[in-house]
Amino acid sequence: MGRLEATISAGLWRALVDHAEKTREPLSHIVSKALAEYLQVSHHTLYQVSTATALVEGVYQGAVRVGTLRDHGDLGLGTFENLDGEMVVIDGRFFQVRSDGSVRECADDMLSPFAVVTRFVPDDAVTLRQCPDGFWTPDYAQTLNVPGYHLHFLSADRNRGGHLLQCRGSDLRLQIQREGDYHIALPETEDFLKADLHRDPAADLARAEGEKP
Ligand SMILES: [Zn+2]
Repeated sequence: MGRLEATISAGLWRALVDHAEKTREPLSHIVSKALAEYLQVSHHTLYQVSTATALVEGVYQGAVRVGTLRDHGDLGLGTFENLDGEMVVIDGRFFQVRSDGSVRECADDMLSPFAVVTRFVPDDAVTLRQCPDGFWTPDYAQTLNVPGYHLHFLSADRNRGGHLLQCRGSDLRLQIQREGDYHIALPETEDFLKADLHRDPAADLARAEGEKP
């Protein structure tokens, strides 16, 4: 997250403070929303590549560059071409956590067959040192995204990470953002165009994303 320091007119300042008192929103949230609107960076849009059904049907060909994902979000998760590790996106940085546990930052030209990102402007302005990040998807959208919680994480030293199955702790704080728009970029790769996407992916998803016995 960036920090902004700016000098504005007394009138504008008064209007900002009045608005904050009226809506009880933190100043940083109001300024973020106003800037997002002015710069046409929508921060309540979920940008997704491909669908959950396509993923469980084995559509692993890379469809979208990490560079493109960067244009659409600074928080999220996903995977890479041929399921080469888990993608973790935190504070605008894209990481690849491979099956051997190694973590490296992604170059723009790496390809992803499935990813979900958003511009994260949480409703409260608490700054956290490290955290898992991810999405909660309602059951009715299970052909599109993994239903329930789907969380990936990186350790604070950025040396470990992956798919989060469960966690426990005390004094935990949660930051949330409700998404109002859902943008799905459908792959034009051969394997996506030829895939049979009729099946309900729930059971396969539970197996792929759940705990291994
Ligand atoms: Zn995952």
